[in-house]
Amino acid sequence: MTLAFDSISENEAFARVAVAAFVTQLNPTLEEVADIKTAVSEAVTNAIIHGYGKEGGEIFLDMTADPAEKTLTVCVTDTGAGIQDVKKAMEPLYTTDTTGERSGMGFSFMEAFMDEVTVESEPGKGTAVTMKKHIGR
Ligand code: ATP
Ligand code: MG
Repeated sequence: MTLAFDSISENEAFARVAVAAFVTQLNPTLEEVADIKTAVSEAVTNAIIHGYGKEGGEIFLDMTADPAEKTLTVCVTDTGAGIQDVKKAMEPLYTTDTTGERSGMGFSFMEAFMDEVTVESEPGKGTAVTMKKHIGR
């Protein structure tokens, strides 16, 4: 299932609820749902703030459930600014934010709460964050 929505902060809450509803089919625990919501929320917030900024744009949330493997795959995509150095961006505490509001922990949370996080990005083209989680370990 793919959802498309505007990069406004209200839609971060929507994305959290949408992925929680979607993963229900895999019978997750409350803790697993909380982990997934947090990871998706971090990725969507990044797309809103870093991907598009003031200009705004469209965010895609693609969700797939594999019932045999009991695995959820979520992909958050933006066609915004993109990332120069993905490896560096994913390091704990690394942030390009200068307002002091951000702590540079978004990718670390995604990696902590999901089993697999892959980031594909090209400067000027956008970013795709793909996250996988096995349900019921
Ligand atoms: P926090 O998530 O703790 O509020 P943060 O967003 O800066 O802070 P991360 O989420 O770990 O930290 O992201 C690290 C950096 O990677 C960001 O500061 C930004 O430069 C870059 N980045 C992340 N996602 C995107 C994106 N979708 N588009 C462009 N740049 C991104
Ligand atoms: Mg972040």
